[in-house]
Amino acid sequence: MTHFIDPRLREAMKPFWPEAEPIASHVGGERVVGNGATISVNDPATGTLLLSYSDAGADVAAKAAAAAEVGQAEWARSTAAGRGRVMQAIARAILASAEPLAQLESLSAGKPIRDTRGEVAKVAEMFEYYAGWADKFHGEVIPVPSSHLNYTRREPIGVVLQITPWNAPIFTAGWQIAPAISMGNAVLLKPSELTPLTSLALAVIAETAGLPKGVVNVLAGLGHTTGQAALAQPAVKKVVFVGSVPTGRLIGEAAARRLVPSVLELGGKSANIVFADAHLERAAIGAQAAIFGGAGQSCVAGSRLLVQSAVYDRFVELVARGAGKIRCGDPLSVDTEIGPINNAKQYDHVLSLIREGAEEGAEIVTGSDGTAQQQGYYVKPTVLKNVTNAMGIARKEVFGPVVAAIRFDTEDEAIAIANDSEFGLAGAVWTRDVARAHRVAASVKAGTFWINSYKTINVASPFGGYNNSGHGRSSGVEALYEYTQVKSVWVETAAEPAVAFGYAPGLRD
Ligand code: NAD
Repeated sequence: MTHFIDPRLREAMKPFWPEAEPIASHVGGERVVGNGATISVNDPATGTLLLSYSDAGADVAAKAAAAAEVGQAEWARSTAAGRGRVMQAIARAILASAEPLAQLESLSAGKPIRDTRGEVAKVAEMFEYYAGWADKFHGEVIPVPSSHLNYTRREPIGVVLQITPWNAPIFTAGWQIAPAISMGNAVLLKPSELTPLTSLALAVIAETAGLPKGVVNVLAGLGHTTGQAALAQPAVKKVVFVGSVPTGRLIGEAAARRLVPSVLELGGKSANIVFADAHLERAAIGAQAAIFGGAGQSCVAGSRLLVQSAVYDRFVELVARGAGKIRCGDPLSVDTEIGPINNAKQYDHVLSLIREGAEEGAEIVTGSDGTAQQQGYYVKPTVLKNVTNAMGIARKEVFGPVVAAIRFDTEDEAIAIANDSEFGLAGAVWTRDVARAHRVAASVKAGTFWINSYKTINVASPFGGYNNSGHGRSSGVEALYEYTQVKSVWVETAAEPAVAFGYAPGLRD
């Protein structure tokens, strides 16, 4: 097949791969070119071809699993403090390559450079954070009611498969790799076929900083081929999936058939609830950040804006006015606040849901009317009003810069609407009534909830979904429970031990 890399992208790749080579998987520290079907990726900002490369395929997945087993055995033998030191070095190396990484991410994923700079810094923070945990998350001694010493060991799971989406590639890679390796696991990472480059670069950087080869392996390939082949590898003992509900269901089922546990970080349709007593100007800025940040390609996007009737028209107007001022444009320009949608399929999906919303009776206050632009996959920040929670635009994940404003009267009604969704990833409330804020926070069924804020997340705090938004937790100490398994060890300490269960016939005189 012909491999293609756009010259601008080629230049952005040079700090990590000085030679002009085809895009390849990173397996046991080596570049391994796949032999599967050709994958072509378009530039989100122009719609023209950005790169093409070969799908890794089953053979490369098998090689990566073997390399990971070897890497894991070595990594798990190192001391916990030693692992922490290597991870600190990785954090420093990420910061040293921060600008080239951000450029590579912006160019290949279409994300504004101001966002990717922030995300790369967060990835360094993730390695620092879990470096600190490496020798501080451990088993305990349990005071059992017998003469035994009973203690637990927190052991690595072994080889973990991580499958990630295209909306925040390096952020998601760091988010899952850092806790996994801090506990002595090795990783097979299968990033989205649309955005493999920064995950591959992260593996290169980590090894330069001292991570043994084979601990992080990255498969450049498609989900239904390479991803499934990786999941079928006997070496894989756990799968962590970040992506859509339909794919999550497939992966959860495949993992369950193998009796391999899974963590599923899936989609959302989060309710951002604004009461009439809120600081409306601040809430309007928060509502814009909630849905338009990252062009809405954020799992926690505040895509349902629930506004109390008394301020509904005024508040929707405020949000729409701000939306109209957001600077959309070239991802590499520092002035750009939101970039394009990542790919043509997702672009069509966003536009079709806007059209569907209008057909259902929602009014487009500002933004796109659902027709395609001439160049690139841009969608203007779009506000739809007079939406009811029964409409498709209020129920389906758009994953684009489109907010559906829904009216409510009472607190109970707001909570009922918020919870009337298949999802449960996040939510927020804006009010000056402290008691109400906590009541609503306690009542909305979601894994993350903000009071007078939106979208603040940190590696130190747990993250995950309720309902169809998934199960298991990432971030914080919670992630370390996902990336370890516990062993209970019993030691007899009595000089004259009692026989276990009082019954051991074969050993009696
Ligand atoms: P997707 O489900 O289409 O793909 C995600 C990953 O799964 C990709 O790497 C893809 O190649 C792989 N994949 C696809 N089919 C597969 C198969 N049959 N077997 C194995 N792997 C397969 O999702 P997407 O379109 O890339 O990303 C958008 C979705 O991700 C949205 O729904 C968004 O809400 C969700 N997301 C969730 C979180 C979270 O933390 N909850 C974070 C970011 C994105």
